[in-house]
Amino acid sequence: MNLVLFGPPGAGKGTQARVLQESRGWPQLSTGEMLRDACRRGTQLGVKCRELMDRGELVPDEIVVGIIADRLDQPDCADGAVFDGFPRTIAQAEALDAILAKRGRQIDLVIELKVKDEILVARVEQRIRDGGQSRADDTPQTLRHRLSVYYKNTCPLLDYYRAQGKLAGVDGMAAIPAVTAAITALIERGSQSGAAPVSAAETQNSRVAKL
Ligand code: AMP
Repeated sequence: MNLVLFGPPGAGKGTQARVLQESRGWPQLSTGEMLRDACRRGTQLGVKCRELMDRGELVPDEIVVGIIADRLDQPDCADGAVFDGFPRTIAQAEALDAILAKRGRQIDLVIELKVKDEILVARVEQRIRDGGQSRADDTPQTLRHRLSVYYKNTCPLLDYYRAQGKLAGVDGMAAIPAVTAAITALIERGSQSGAAPVSAAETQNSRVAKL
């Protein structure tokens, strides 16, 4: 199954993608992780992207689309993958559809992790208090900017996937195992019916308090 985990920065997409990688063997394709790795290794790509990433801006579509196209050709993606932090723009989603179609595949399910903005900010503040901040963009100020980028550029994808009948949603504010259970139920339902589950309650975009 090719599954997109969708949601604002800090919603828990990475945590849930790692769980799915472990339990189902679908690799976690996190463009953020791949770009951070390029930054750490000091590659040309990393140098080009670092400043944008530190400011919480998106890197250009062609860069992330190229990374994902290469990654999907690797054999571990043959049975599917979990997309984490990609696509983030309509252009990326269209490119992803085309890349998968060329390989005779498609996105099967998109799961939105719904988390209120104030909870995302509180989580970052808590990480900093605990001394657990590990990324330059993991500050309340940059998170607020990343959220505004998310609402402007990424949220329109909800309509894109809703129109394709692929969108479902879970409460991302529940405890981690409860979120995993909700995701598992959606995957099971999706693979039984051959189509993604869609209901008004599930797909309603829970746009929450603006910062
Ligand atoms: P993430 O780890 O997914 O929060 O991504 C960290 C940063 O990497 C983002 O704030 C962007 O600067 C960049 N990035 C990751 N994925 C994408 C993407 N799909 N499109 C554009 N920029 C991205």
